[in-house]
Amino acid sequence: MLKKIVIASHHGFCMGVKRAIKIAEETAQEETGRVTILNEIVHNEAVVDRFNQQGVGQAFSVDDVPEGTLIISAHGIAPNIIRDARAKGLKVVDATCPLVTRIYTIINKIVANGYYIVHYGDPNHDETHGIVGQAPDHITVASSREKLLALPDWKDRKLGLTVQTTAHLEHFAEVEKLAKQKWPHIEIFNTICNATTKRQNAIMDLAPQVDIILVVGSKSSANSRRLARISGAICGRGVLISSAADIDPEWFSGNQRAEAVGISAGASTPDFLVAEVIERLMEISGQTAEVILPDQ
Ligand code: SF4
Repeated sequence: MLKKIVIASHHGFCMGVKRAIKIAEETAQEETGRVTILNEIVHNEAVVDRFNQQGVGQAFSVDDVPEGTLIISAHGIAPNIIRDARAKGLKVVDATCPLVTRIYTIINKIVANGYYIVHYGDPNHDETHGIVGQAPDHITVASSREKLLALPDWKDRKLGLTVQTTAHLEHFAEVEKLAKQKWPHIEIFNTICNATTKRQNAIMDLAPQVDIILVVGSKSSANSRRLARISGAICGRGVLISSAADIDPEWFSGNQRAEAVGISAGASTPDFLVAEVIERLMEISGQTAEVILPDQ
């Protein structure tokens, strides 16, 4: 029987996502013409659906946007794409997260100083595309420790290491160690976002108190997937759910019988989805579970 629902101290929308959504909402209200978001404004289907309902379109290529205003998502974009959009007459509204823009600044500065960059991240992520697009001939992406170790020795090259904002701090510490062993002269630029670290630390605090952790977030959200993985590793059971509809009441009855559930949410998950999850869990507990909210 479900007795306790504990909410992670840090969860849900981060500063960059809140800002991007606000910019997109304001743009949708102000512009009279067509408004299109390039890629997902954030990696969450519920947020994207809401924008679609407000008449804000979505496209994955500038080629598919014939006119109007183009909003760049929180994950950022390569500068050549912004140039292409302006060249075809589109008005560009940039909602790139300032912490992603900070990585662009670091990259542009160190490349101008003759550095070559090894970026540790997912090569298929929108954020990585934007980062590589800053200096395509001066960056290599390594998506794993093995791939990093397989790179050339580059003894005579000035090197810098940057990292995807959503990477795990401890995991990156190992990558940093390996990179320094391979290239003792490499300079490290820790570009991990504080919001991600706070959510990951909150999971570590939450895990010992509960039998299962539900992470509310989209499968397309790298940080939500990572939170679910960390939850599984520490607590034994971490499940990524996109909404309350994914909750299986069996998790709280029969053999599985979790009595305490922890709730977290990725940085791109809106509060209303978390509220619906709590509501559903209360229903499953027959409205008897104690809800423990984080200290404010
Ligand atoms: S997770 Fe961090 S870097 Fe990414 S959008 Fe949010 S605040 Fe910005």
